[in-house]
Amino acid sequence: MSKKHVQTSFDVIVIGAGPAGYSSAIRCAQLGLKTACIDNWCNKKGLVSLGGTYLNAGCVASIALLESAKIYHSLNHNLKEHGIQAEAISVDIALMMQRKNNIIDALSQQIADSFVDHNITYMKAEARLLNDRQVEITPLDQSGVSMLEAKHIILASGSSPIDLSCAPIDNEFIIDSTMALNLGAIPKRLAIIGAGVIGLELASIWNRLGAETILLEAQETFLSMADQQIALEAYRIYTEQGLELRLGARVISAKKGNKKVTVEYQDSDGTHTLRVDKLIVASGRKPNTENLAAAEANLLLDENGYVHVDENCRTNLPGVYAIGDLTLLGPMIAHKGIEEGLFVAEQIAGIRNPINYDLLPSVVFTDPEIAWVGQTEQGLRAMGESIKIGTFPLNATARAHAMSQTEGIVKIIAHADTDAILGVHIIGMQASEMIAEAVLAMEFSASSEDLARTIHAHPTLAKALHGAALTLTNKT
Ligand code: NAD
Repeated sequence: MSKKHVQTSFDVIVIGAGPAGYSSAIRCAQLGLKTACIDNWCNKKGLVSLGGTYLNAGCVASIALLESAKIYHSLNHNLKEHGIQAEAISVDIALMMQRKNNIIDALSQQIADSFVDHNITYMKAEARLLNDRQVEITPLDQSGVSMLEAKHIILASGSSPIDLSCAPIDNEFIIDSTMALNLGAIPKRLAIIGAGVIGLELASIWNRLGAETILLEAQETFLSMADQQIALEAYRIYTEQGLELRLGARVISAKKGNKKVTVEYQDSDGTHTLRVDKLIVASGRKPNTENLAAAEANLLLDENGYVHVDENCRTNLPGVYAIGDLTLLGPMIAHKGIEEGLFVAEQIAGIRNPINYDLLPSVVFTDPEIAWVGQTEQGLRAMGESIKIGTFPLNATARAHAMSQTEGIVKIIAHADTDAILGVHIIGMQASEMIAEAVLAMEFSASSEDLARTIHAHPTLAKALHGAALTLTNKT
């Protein structure tokens, strides 16, 4: 293929159309910047799709399937108490996947429409940074290499699953997290390497659909990044649901044979063997920087491939920014990438609106959900902070009873002297929705008394937050 250099100039080129990239491109365009966005995502059928991992093989795909799985589980287990009879309940997994794919297609189309509405030039191509002003474009249809120029370049190429040499992916028996959201049948017995967020979210889906699900986690501590009281509660709830959580279990080999996978793992008792129908590898993700920049571009990466950035998402190259999963400025979560996308776009347009990384909410989309913001009890105690803690069980709210989902607690940690809220931790149905109130309260430097004096509609799940705050009033 001959190299054809077509020079087109933009104010901003965004590489990647995941949540970080598409949000950034749209914000740039809204601020009057001539913007291009390049993305190379192709689905299994070779069709392009916007939205990156988050939409196609991550959060959205996962929560869409979890909703189906929850309905199926509910039909099988909770209908009778409602006085509703249903017989011959079955799953058509192909239709379930189709619904999920339809959601992805519709949301991808919305991004494409938004690009059109904002006059953003969208290219289905591989983009490679050549220097601080130029990007090489190789269209996915191989229609000829070209070059684009811009005053500013935003790198937002996301991340992909880390391969484990002890469990080579064949995507038939030993599968990655993307394939785990595209299975054609419910496995009878399933093992998952890694009880991180991805492992737990996938486990929740397949367990709710009836698969015997075993999580093998190398760490001894469960959900170490979460508040440990909530993690303990999560462990209890998941275990009662039938999830098998084996902690301190490091997988050392996985071999397929006779349509099964034999997994070998080590724990403090020695080496064990497990035979399963499918093995999902969910052992972490790595930034997509392998082919992102030409060597001559001299883009600075760390030893794990993360792009080196300052607190303003600026790389070592003037006018080149990196956002989302590419950097270590915060965890790999979609809304961190979105915030950085908006932040960088506004920076380029001369607006300064720094991100408060301390108040980035975290969510684990399992059933029930886990969500938190701010600091954990163990973290604050380790710092020697003087704190007070208020908890409130969801089963003390009328709404949870009405919905027959009474598992879970809300926990508020406030400073013992100033009463400032330092952390809010929730496990329970719709924790991901409830946490928004806590984030807003903390963003406005609320005290627990502020929350306690805020009128909450009754009966709602949010009343549990109110209840936890009330237990803190006049407490030292
Ligand atoms: P992770 O690093 O959070 O968890 C992977 C786990 O695998 C680790 O606990 C690790 O100890 C374990 N592990 C690795 N090798 C192992 C082995 N040989 N045997 C047993 N256990 C082993 O990674 P993840 O869950 O894949 O998620 C990747 C990133 O994506 C994270 O930053 C996560 O927060 C993010 N993410 C977030 C969301 C969300 O916000 N809802 C959803 C999906 C992913």
